[in-house]
Amino acid sequence: MSDVKGSESSLFPTYARYPVALVKGQGSWLWDDKGTKYLDFMCGLAVTNLGHAPQKIKEALVKQLDELWHVSNLFHIPNQEEAARLLTDNSCADAVFFCNSGAEANEAAIKLARRYHQKVLGNGRYEIITFTNSFHGRTLATLTATGQDKVKEGFSPLPEGFRYAPLNDEAALEAAITDQTAAIMIETVQAEGGVHPVEPAFMQFAAKLCEKHGILLIVDEIQTGMGRTGKLFGFEHYGIEPDIFTLAKGLGSGFPVGAMLAKGKLREAFSAGSHGSTFGGTPIATAVVKATVETIVGDRVADQAAQAGEYLVGQLRTSLAGNPFVKEVRGKGLLIGIECVQPVGDLITEARERGLLVVTAGPNVIRLLPNLLVTNEEIDQAVGILSALLAEQTAAAQ
Ligand SMILES: *Cc1c(COP(=O)(O)O)cnc(C)c1O
Repeated sequence: MSDVKGSESSLFPTYARYPVALVKGQGSWLWDDKGTKYLDFMCGLAVTNLGHAPQKIKEALVKQLDELWHVSNLFHIPNQEEAARLLTDNSCADAVFFCNSGAEANEAAIKLARRYHQKVLGNGRYEIITFTNSFHGRTLATLTATGQDKVKEGFSPLPEGFRYAPLNDEAALEAAITDQTAAIMIETVQAEGGVHPVEPAFMQFAAKLCEKHGILLIVDEIQTGMGRTGKLFGFEHYGIEPDIFTLAKGLGSGFPVGAMLAKGKLREAFSAGSHGSTFGGTPIATAVVKATVETIVGDRVADQAAQAGEYLVGQLRTSLAGNPFVKEVRGKGLLIGIECVQPVGDLITEARERGLLVVTAGPNVIRLLPNLLVTNEEIDQAVGILSALLAEQTAAAQ
Protein backbone atom coordinates (compact mmCIF):
# COMPACT_ATOMS: atom_id res chain seq x y z
CA MET A 1 0.00 0.00 0.00
CA SER A 2 1.32 3.42 -0.94
CA ASP A 3 1.20 5.97 1.83
CA VAL A 4 1.33 9.00 -0.51
CA LYS A 5 -2.35 8.48 -1.30
CA GLY A 6 -3.32 9.34 2.27
CA SER A 7 -5.44 12.46 2.58
CA GLU A 8 -4.12 14.29 -0.47
CA SER A 9 -6.36 14.87 -3.46
CA SER A 10 -5.80 12.63 -6.45
CA LEU A 11 -5.94 15.71 -8.69
CA PHE A 12 -2.97 17.80 -9.81
CA PRO A 13 -2.88 20.97 -7.74
CA THR A 14 -3.18 23.19 -10.86
CA TYR A 15 -5.94 25.28 -9.28
CA ALA A 16 -6.00 27.16 -5.97
CA ARG A 17 -9.58 26.09 -5.38
CA TYR A 18 -12.10 27.90 -3.19
CA PRO A 19 -13.26 25.78 -0.24
CA VAL A 20 -16.73 25.45 -1.74
CA ALA A 21 -18.38 22.59 -3.64
CA LEU A 22 -21.28 23.79 -5.81
CA VAL A 23 -23.87 21.14 -6.52
CA LYS A 24 -26.86 22.88 -8.10
CA GLY A 25 -27.53 25.86 -10.34
CA GLN A 26 -30.58 27.64 -11.72
CA GLY A 27 -30.53 30.94 -13.60
CA SER A 28 -28.33 33.42 -11.70
CA TRP A 29 -28.13 31.23 -8.58
CA LEU A 30 -25.91 28.43 -7.28
CA TRP A 31 -26.15 26.22 -4.20
CA ASP A 32 -23.30 24.44 -2.42
CA ASP A 33 -23.36 21.02 -0.75
CA LYS A 34 -24.36 22.64 2.56
CA GLY A 35 -27.37 24.36 1.00
CA THR A 36 -25.82 27.86 0.98
CA LYS A 37 -27.10 30.00 -1.90
CA TYR A 38 -24.89 32.24 -4.04
CA LEU A 39 -25.59 34.96 -6.60
CA ASP A 40 -23.36 34.01 -9.53
CA PHE A 41 -21.55 36.99 -11.08
CA MET A 42 -18.75 34.91 -12.60
CA CYS A 43 -20.66 32.32 -14.67
CA GLY A 44 -17.91 29.71 -14.64
CA LEU A 45 -15.71 32.39 -16.21
CA ALA A 46 -18.03 33.81 -18.86
CA VAL A 47 -19.41 30.41 -19.86
CA THR A 48 -23.00 30.11 -18.59
CA ASN A 49 -24.13 33.22 -20.48
CA LEU A 50 -27.78 32.08 -20.45
CA GLY A 51 -27.70 31.26 -16.73
CA HIS A 52 -27.49 27.82 -15.16
CA ALA A 53 -29.49 24.96 -16.70
CA PRO A 54 -31.34 27.10 -19.28
CA GLN A 55 -34.53 25.29 -20.31
CA LYS A 56 -34.27 25.53 -24.13
CA ILE A 57 -30.66 24.38 -24.18
CA LYS A 58 -31.41 21.56 -21.76
CA GLU A 59 -34.26 20.35 -23.99
CA ALA A 60 -31.99 20.32 -27.07
CA LEU A 61 -29.33 18.41 -25.12
CA VAL A 62 -31.72 15.84 -23.68
CA LYS A 63 -33.31 15.27 -27.10
CA GLN A 64 -29.89 14.66 -28.64
CA LEU A 65 -28.86 12.34 -25.78
CA ASP A 66 -31.77 10.11 -26.78
CA GLU A 67 -30.71 10.03 -30.44
CA LEU A 68 -26.94 9.95 -31.00
CA TRP A 69 -23.86 10.95 -29.02
CA HIS A 70 -20.82 10.50 -31.22
CA VAL A 71 -19.85 9.26 -34.64
CA SER A 72 -16.76 10.77 -36.27
CA ASN A 73 -15.94 13.67 -38.52
CA LEU A 74 -15.50 11.04 -41.23
CA PHE A 75 -19.30 11.35 -41.52
CA HIS A 76 -21.60 14.25 -42.27
CA ILE A 77 -23.00 15.56 -39.00
CA PRO A 78 -26.23 17.48 -39.70
CA ASN A 79 -26.18 19.34 -36.37
CA GLN A 80 -22.64 20.51 -37.12
CA GLU A 81 -23.63 21.80 -40.59
CA GLU A 82 -26.63 23.62 -39.12
CA ALA A 83 -24.71 25.10 -36.19
CA ALA A 84 -22.01 26.34 -38.60
CA ARG A 85 -24.64 27.87 -40.89
CA LEU A 86 -26.23 29.70 -37.97
CA LEU A 87 -22.84 31.15 -37.03
CA THR A 88 -21.95 32.20 -40.59
CA ASP A 89 -25.46 33.65 -41.18
CA ASN A 90 -24.95 35.83 -38.12
CA SER A 91 -21.35 36.95 -38.70
CA CYS A 92 -18.84 37.96 -41.37
CA ALA A 93 -17.43 34.40 -41.44
CA ASP A 94 -18.03 31.84 -44.19
CA ALA A 95 -16.48 28.69 -42.72
CA VAL A 96 -16.36 27.12 -39.25
CA PHE A 97 -14.10 24.51 -37.64
CA PHE A 98 -15.44 23.02 -34.41
CA CYS A 99 -13.19 21.96 -31.55
CA ASN A 100 -13.56 21.55 -27.78
CA SER A 101 -12.01 24.56 -26.06
CA GLY A 102 -10.74 28.08 -26.46
CA ALA A 103 -7.08 27.13 -26.67
CA GLU A 104 -7.88 24.65 -29.42
CA ALA A 105 -9.82 27.30 -31.33
CA ASN A 106 -6.82 29.65 -31.14
CA GLU A 107 -4.45 26.82 -32.14
CA ALA A 108 -6.64 26.28 -35.20
CA ALA A 109 -6.55 30.03 -35.96
CA ILE A 110 -2.74 30.13 -35.71
CA LYS A 111 -2.41 27.03 -37.89
CA LEU A 112 -4.87 28.37 -40.46
CA ALA A 113 -3.06 31.74 -40.69
CA ARG A 114 0.31 30.07 -41.23
CA ARG A 115 -1.03 27.55 -43.70
CA TYR A 116 -2.84 30.22 -45.72
CA HIS A 117 0.39 32.17 -46.17
CA GLN A 118 2.53 29.10 -46.74
CA LYS A 119 0.26 26.90 -48.88
CA VAL A 120 -2.23 29.24 -50.54
CA LEU A 121 -0.19 32.43 -51.03
CA GLY A 122 3.15 30.63 -50.99
CA ASN A 123 4.96 33.47 -49.22
CA GLY A 124 6.21 31.45 -46.21
CA ARG A 125 5.04 33.94 -43.59
CA TYR A 126 4.59 32.57 -40.08
CA GLU A 127 4.84 35.29 -37.43
CA ILE A 128 1.87 36.18 -35.24
CA ILE A 129 1.79 39.51 -33.41
CA THR A 130 -0.10 39.53 -30.10
CA PHE A 131 -0.38 42.07 -27.29
CA THR A 132 1.08 42.66 -23.86
CA ASN A 133 -1.32 41.42 -21.14
CA SER A 134 -3.32 39.31 -23.60
CA PHE A 135 -4.57 35.81 -22.82
CA HIS A 136 -5.00 33.19 -25.53
CA GLY A 137 -4.83 29.81 -23.78
CA ARG A 138 -2.63 27.14 -22.20
CA THR A 139 -1.38 24.92 -25.03
CA LEU A 140 2.25 25.51 -26.03
CA ALA A 141 1.38 27.74 -29.00
CA THR A 142 -1.39 29.68 -27.24
CA LEU A 143 0.58 30.25 -24.04
CA THR A 144 3.37 31.56 -26.24
CA ALA A 145 0.84 33.84 -27.95
CA THR A 146 -0.29 35.03 -24.50
CA GLY A 147 1.37 38.33 -23.55
CA GLN A 148 1.96 37.41 -19.89
CA ASP A 149 5.15 35.76 -18.58
CA LYS A 150 3.49 33.90 -15.70
CA VAL A 151 1.84 31.30 -17.97
CA LYS A 152 5.18 30.51 -19.67
CA GLU A 153 7.37 29.73 -16.63
CA GLY A 154 8.95 26.30 -16.79
CA PHE A 155 7.62 25.38 -20.23
CA SER A 156 10.57 26.22 -22.49
CA PRO A 157 11.49 25.82 -25.26
CA LEU A 158 8.48 27.71 -26.56
CA PRO A 159 7.47 27.60 -30.23
CA GLU A 160 8.95 30.26 -32.50
CA GLY A 161 7.13 32.88 -34.46
CA PHE A 162 5.41 35.14 -31.92
CA ARG A 163 6.01 38.86 -31.34
CA TYR A 164 4.37 41.17 -28.84
CA ALA A 165 3.25 44.77 -29.03
CA PRO A 166 1.74 47.05 -26.37
CA LEU A 167 -2.04 47.51 -26.72
CA ASN A 168 -3.44 50.80 -28.03
CA ASP A 169 -0.02 51.96 -29.35
CA GLU A 170 -0.22 52.43 -33.12
CA ALA A 171 3.46 53.21 -33.72
CA ALA A 172 4.59 50.17 -31.72
CA LEU A 173 2.24 47.88 -33.63
CA GLU A 174 3.47 49.18 -36.96
CA ALA A 175 7.08 48.71 -35.80
CA ALA A 176 6.41 45.08 -34.83
CA ILE A 177 5.43 44.15 -38.40
CA THR A 178 8.10 42.32 -40.44
CA ASP A 179 8.10 40.67 -43.85
CA GLN A 180 7.28 37.43 -41.98
CA THR A 181 4.11 38.70 -40.28
CA ALA A 182 1.24 36.32 -41.02
CA ALA A 183 -1.37 37.64 -38.58
CA ILE A 184 -2.23 40.01 -35.76
CA MET A 185 -4.22 38.34 -32.96
CA ILE A 186 -6.22 40.52 -30.57
CA GLU A 187 -9.01 40.37 -27.95
CA THR A 188 -11.62 43.15 -28.23
CA VAL A 189 -11.54 43.46 -24.44
CA GLN A 190 -8.50 42.01 -22.69
CA ALA A 191 -10.42 40.05 -20.09
CA GLU A 192 -7.99 37.93 -18.05
CA GLY A 193 -5.48 40.77 -18.48
CA GLY A 194 -7.54 43.23 -16.41
CA VAL A 195 -10.69 44.12 -18.40
CA HIS A 196 -9.10 46.55 -20.85
CA PRO A 197 -11.27 47.35 -23.89
CA VAL A 198 -9.32 48.05 -27.07
CA GLU A 199 -9.65 51.70 -28.16
CA PRO A 200 -11.76 52.02 -31.34
CA ALA A 201 -9.13 54.05 -33.22
CA PHE A 202 -6.50 51.42 -32.44
CA MET A 203 -8.67 48.52 -33.62
CA GLN A 204 -9.45 50.35 -36.84
CA PHE A 205 -5.76 51.17 -37.31
CA ALA A 206 -4.84 47.50 -36.80
CA ALA A 207 -7.46 46.41 -39.35
CA LYS A 208 -6.15 48.93 -41.92
CA LEU A 209 -2.56 47.87 -41.27
CA CYS A 210 -3.54 44.26 -41.91
CA GLU A 211 -5.17 45.19 -45.19
CA LYS A 212 -2.19 47.25 -46.29
CA HIS A 213 0.40 44.54 -45.56
CA GLY A 214 -1.60 41.43 -46.49
CA ILE A 215 -1.74 40.36 -42.83
CA LEU A 216 -4.65 38.37 -41.40
CA LEU A 217 -6.61 39.85 -38.51
CA ILE A 218 -7.50 37.22 -35.89
CA VAL A 219 -9.92 38.32 -33.17
CA ASP A 220 -10.04 36.15 -30.04
CA GLU A 221 -13.74 36.33 -29.05
CA ILE A 222 -13.53 33.40 -26.64
CA GLN A 223 -14.57 35.52 -23.66
CA THR A 224 -16.14 38.49 -25.46
CA GLY A 225 -18.29 36.51 -27.92
CA MET A 226 -21.85 35.20 -27.73
CA GLY A 227 -23.41 38.46 -26.57
CA ARG A 228 -21.14 39.10 -23.58
CA THR A 229 -20.15 42.65 -24.61
CA GLY A 230 -23.64 43.71 -25.71
CA LYS A 231 -23.15 42.65 -29.35
CA LEU A 232 -23.12 39.05 -30.61
CA PHE A 233 -19.36 39.45 -31.20
CA GLY A 234 -17.10 42.10 -29.68
CA PHE A 235 -15.65 43.18 -33.03
CA GLU A 236 -19.10 44.51 -34.04
CA HIS A 237 -18.44 47.48 -31.72
CA TYR A 238 -15.54 48.52 -33.95
CA GLY A 239 -16.99 48.41 -37.47
CA ILE A 240 -14.27 45.98 -38.55
CA GLU A 241 -14.40 42.43 -39.90
CA PRO A 242 -11.75 39.95 -38.79
CA ASP A 243 -10.41 37.38 -41.26
CA ILE A 244 -10.53 34.80 -38.48
CA PHE A 245 -12.21 34.77 -35.07
CA THR A 246 -12.48 32.25 -32.28
CA LEU A 247 -15.26 31.26 -29.87
CA ALA A 248 -15.58 28.91 -26.92
CA LYS A 249 -16.73 29.97 -23.45
CA GLY A 250 -20.34 31.06 -24.06
CA LEU A 251 -20.78 29.00 -27.23
CA GLY A 252 -22.18 25.93 -25.48
CA SER A 253 -23.92 27.50 -22.44
CA GLY A 254 -21.72 25.30 -20.23
CA PHE A 255 -21.18 22.37 -22.57
CA PRO A 256 -17.50 22.25 -23.66
CA VAL A 257 -17.14 23.36 -27.27
CA GLY A 258 -14.98 25.76 -29.29
CA ALA A 259 -15.00 27.08 -32.83
CA MET A 260 -12.67 28.82 -35.25
CA LEU A 261 -14.42 30.87 -37.93
CA ALA A 262 -12.94 32.45 -41.04
CA LYS A 263 -13.68 34.26 -44.26
CA GLY A 264 -14.16 32.27 -47.46
CA LYS A 265 -10.72 33.07 -48.88
CA LEU A 266 -9.22 30.95 -46.08
CA ARG A 267 -11.36 27.88 -46.74
CA GLU A 268 -8.93 26.12 -49.06
CA ALA A 269 -6.04 26.55 -46.60
CA PHE A 270 -7.64 23.84 -44.42
CA SER A 271 -7.93 21.16 -47.07
CA ALA A 272 -8.88 17.56 -46.20
CA GLY A 273 -6.40 16.08 -43.73
CA SER A 274 -4.73 19.40 -42.77
CA HIS A 275 -6.37 19.72 -39.35
CA GLY A 276 -8.78 17.73 -37.22
CA SER A 277 -10.23 16.78 -33.85
CA THR A 278 -11.85 13.52 -32.79
CA PHE A 279 -14.41 15.22 -30.58
CA GLY A 280 -14.74 18.51 -32.49
CA GLY A 281 -18.39 19.26 -33.27
CA THR A 282 -20.05 16.05 -32.06
CA PRO A 283 -23.82 15.68 -32.53
CA ILE A 284 -24.27 16.54 -28.84
CA ALA A 285 -21.96 19.57 -28.79
CA THR A 286 -23.45 21.05 -31.93
CA ALA A 287 -27.05 20.43 -30.81
CA VAL A 288 -26.15 22.64 -27.85
CA VAL A 289 -24.43 25.24 -30.05
CA LYS A 290 -27.48 25.40 -32.32
CA ALA A 291 -29.85 25.95 -29.41
CA THR A 292 -27.50 28.51 -27.84
CA VAL A 293 -27.06 30.58 -31.00
CA GLU A 294 -30.79 30.39 -31.82
CA THR A 295 -31.64 31.59 -28.31
CA ILE A 296 -29.06 34.40 -28.22
CA VAL A 297 -30.03 35.68 -31.67
CA GLY A 298 -33.79 34.98 -31.45
CA ASP A 299 -34.26 36.47 -27.98
CA ARG A 300 -31.95 39.43 -28.71
CA VAL A 301 -29.87 38.44 -25.71
CA ALA A 302 -26.96 40.69 -26.72
CA ASP A 303 -29.27 43.73 -26.54
CA GLN A 304 -30.42 42.61 -23.09
CA ALA A 305 -26.76 42.31 -22.06
CA ALA A 306 -26.05 45.82 -23.34
CA GLN A 307 -28.94 47.23 -21.27
CA ALA A 308 -28.10 45.24 -18.16
CA GLY A 309 -24.44 46.26 -18.53
CA GLU A 310 -25.36 49.92 -18.72
CA TYR A 311 -27.52 49.57 -15.62
CA LEU A 312 -24.82 47.66 -13.71
CA VAL A 313 -22.04 50.13 -14.58
CA GLY A 314 -24.32 53.06 -13.72
CA GLN A 315 -25.26 51.59 -10.34
CA LEU A 316 -21.61 50.76 -9.57
CA ARG A 317 -20.38 54.24 -10.52
CA THR A 318 -23.07 55.87 -8.39
CA SER A 319 -22.57 53.70 -5.33
CA LEU A 320 -18.76 53.73 -5.54
CA ALA A 321 -18.41 57.44 -6.34
CA GLY A 322 -15.80 59.07 -4.13
CA ASN A 323 -14.55 55.74 -2.77
CA PRO A 324 -10.75 56.20 -2.64
CA PHE A 325 -10.20 52.42 -2.77
CA VAL A 326 -11.75 52.30 -6.26
CA LYS A 327 -9.80 53.61 -9.22
CA GLU A 328 -12.14 52.92 -12.13
CA VAL A 329 -15.21 50.98 -13.27
CA ARG A 330 -14.87 49.94 -16.93
CA GLY A 331 -15.86 47.31 -19.45
CA LYS A 332 -18.26 46.52 -22.26
CA GLY A 333 -21.71 45.00 -21.87
CA LEU A 334 -21.56 42.47 -19.03
CA LEU A 335 -17.78 42.12 -18.96
CA ILE A 336 -16.99 44.64 -16.25
CA GLY A 337 -13.95 45.40 -14.15
CA ILE A 338 -13.68 47.38 -10.92
CA GLU A 339 -10.05 48.46 -10.69
CA CYS A 340 -8.93 49.07 -7.10
CA VAL A 341 -5.81 50.65 -5.67
CA GLN A 342 -4.75 47.43 -3.90
CA PRO A 343 -5.00 43.67 -4.47
CA VAL A 344 -8.57 42.39 -4.29
CA GLY A 345 -8.05 38.68 -3.51
CA ASP A 346 -9.42 39.01 0.04
CA LEU A 347 -12.43 40.96 -1.24
CA ILE A 348 -13.34 38.12 -3.58
CA THR A 349 -13.36 35.75 -0.58
CA GLU A 350 -15.38 38.18 1.53
CA ALA A 351 -17.91 38.68 -1.28
CA ARG A 352 -18.34 34.92 -1.50
CA GLU A 353 -18.91 34.69 2.23
CA ARG A 354 -21.68 37.26 1.76
CA GLY A 355 -23.22 35.22 -1.05
CA LEU A 356 -21.79 36.83 -4.19
CA LEU A 357 -19.46 35.04 -6.60
CA VAL A 358 -17.04 37.30 -8.50
CA VAL A 359 -13.52 36.77 -9.79
CA THR A 360 -10.31 38.75 -10.32
CA ALA A 361 -8.74 39.93 -13.58
CA GLY A 362 -5.15 40.54 -12.54
CA PRO A 363 -4.31 41.45 -8.91
CA ASN A 364 -6.26 44.72 -8.52
CA VAL A 365 -9.37 44.20 -10.62
CA ILE A 366 -12.68 42.64 -9.54
CA ARG A 367 -14.27 41.14 -12.65
CA LEU A 368 -18.06 40.89 -12.95
CA LEU A 369 -19.47 38.36 -15.42
CA PRO A 370 -23.16 37.85 -14.63
CA ASN A 371 -25.30 35.85 -17.05
CA LEU A 372 -26.75 37.90 -19.89
CA LEU A 373 -30.34 37.51 -18.65
CA VAL A 374 -29.56 38.87 -15.18
CA THR A 375 -32.37 41.00 -13.72
CA ASN A 376 -32.08 44.53 -12.33
CA GLU A 377 -33.04 43.17 -8.88
CA GLU A 378 -30.13 40.73 -9.00
CA ILE A 379 -27.83 43.54 -10.14
CA ASP A 380 -29.03 45.67 -7.20
CA GLN A 381 -28.24 42.82 -4.79
CA ALA A 382 -24.73 42.39 -6.21
CA VAL A 383 -24.05 46.13 -6.17
CA GLY A 384 -25.30 46.29 -2.56
CA ILE A 385 -22.86 43.60 -1.44
CA LEU A 386 -19.92 45.07 -3.37
CA SER A 387 -20.46 48.68 -2.35
CA ALA A 388 -20.77 47.73 1.33
CA LEU A 389 -17.61 45.67 1.06
CA LEU A 390 -15.65 48.38 -0.75
CA ALA A 391 -16.87 51.04 1.73
CA GLU A 392 -15.50 48.93 4.61
CA GLN A 393 -12.25 48.55 2.69
CA THR A 394 -11.90 52.32 2.52
CA ALA A 395 -12.58 52.64 6.23
CA ALA A 396 -9.98 49.95 6.96
CA ALA A 397 -7.38 51.67 4.77
CA GLN A 398 -7.74 54.99 6.59
C1 LIG B 1 -10.56 31.47 -21.64
C2 LIG B 1 -9.87 32.08 -22.80
C3 LIG B 1 -9.04 31.32 -23.65
C4 LIG B 1 -8.76 29.85 -23.40
O1 LIG B 1 -9.89 29.06 -23.43
P1 LIG B 1 -9.84 27.56 -22.82
O2 LIG B 1 -11.19 27.00 -23.16
O3 LIG B 1 -9.58 27.69 -21.37
O4 LIG B 1 -8.74 26.85 -23.54
C5 LIG B 1 -8.48 31.95 -24.72
N1 LIG B 1 -8.68 33.27 -24.97
C6 LIG B 1 -9.45 34.02 -24.18
C7 LIG B 1 -9.67 35.46 -24.51
C8 LIG B 1 -10.06 33.47 -23.06
O5 LIG B 1 -10.80 34.24 -22.24
